[in-house]
Amino acid sequence: MQSGKIAELAGDNSITIGGRKGEYILLDRESGDFVSHTLFFTPTKKGKGILVTQTVDNNILLGPTAEELEYSDTTTSANGLNFVISKAKTMCKNPPLFNTITSFAGMRAYSSRHDFIIEESQSVKGLIHCAGIESPGLTSAPAIAEYVVNELVGKIVALEKNERFNGTRKPDYFFKNLSVDEKNELIKKEPSYGKIVCRCEQITEGEILRVIRENPPAKDIDGVKRRTRSGMGRCQGGFCQPYVAELLAREQNIPLESVTKKGKDSYLLTGVTK
Ligand SMILES: Cc1cc2nc3c(=O)[nH]c(=O)nc-3n(C[C@H](O)[C@H](O)[C@H](O)COP(=O)(O)OP(=O)(O)OC[C@H]3O[C@@H](n4cnc5c(N)ncnc54)[C@H](O)[C@@H]3O)c2cc1C
Repeated sequence: MQSGKIAELAGDNSITIGGRKGEYILLDRESGDFVSHTLFFTPTKKGKGILVTQTVDNNILLGPTAEELEYSDTTTSANGLNFVISKAKTMCKNPPLFNTITSFAGMRAYSSRHDFIIEESQSVKGLIHCAGIESPGLTSAPAIAEYVVNELVGKIVALEKNERFNGTRKPDYFFKNLSVDEKNELIKKEPSYGKIVCRCEQITEGEILRVIRENPPAKDIDGVKRRTRSGMGRCQGGFCQPYVAELLAREQNIPLESVTKKGKDSYLLTGVTK
């Protein structure tokens, strides 16, 4: 949502960005087979509307709303979530809402031009704006990157292909998906794989240590959560979060009170009580 302001800093005043808040409800994997396809209404000007969909990790996701705002707001509201529920109920019978594990909201940017703005700055040569990348911006990201390289940057500077660049990320393996033999072998080599930290998602201490130690490292609780799924299950980190915090403190050699949820000043602890 800040791309218009960044463009302004460069002297380009033609990019006006607004925000569209979207609220979601997430159901536990226990209900993962409630739908097997993505269900949605006919799209409108504001987007695809409310979906009921199965995620790649087998949760069920309901949402998002589409509320236009001039500022960023990622709070959820009774109104927004009730709207999601009422729409989901018109699409399918008895969504298993008793299995709700969390709700959350995100902001998506849109531009006054109602299309992706992918262009070179009029004021600063070589500065490329990618602004107002509305939904489905995530899906379009690889194509946007190719367009920027081939049609914009490539026409400003001669680009040379770095043959050594490896664009394929090594897939993270999840301990729970290994065979019994593979699990035993790994535990023999590294006993921390034998200790389950996140009971809901069956994530081991070994996996958590791996992402804290890898380069670039996961530095906070949400970083560990995004890479390992530790804390993404039914209890939403109620059981594993304190232990993940301890591992982060130990590995980074910092006091426990300095561990953050998501960087900056998102501290969880203020001091020792006993
Ligand atoms: C509710 C919701 C539903 C969505 N649904 C879909 C979908 O169905 N399909 C799909 O393909 N995509 C979807 N998206 C993705 C979304 O619509 C966008 O298309 C996508 O996020 C655009 O990516 P982006 O990198 O341009 O911007 P963003 O993802 O907004 O990333 C911008 C980044 O810039 C950072 N930033 C902001 N200001 C500054 C600053 N001053 N300095 C440094 N960094 C800064 C932000 O922290 C952020 O990390 C959805 C998003 C939301 C929130």
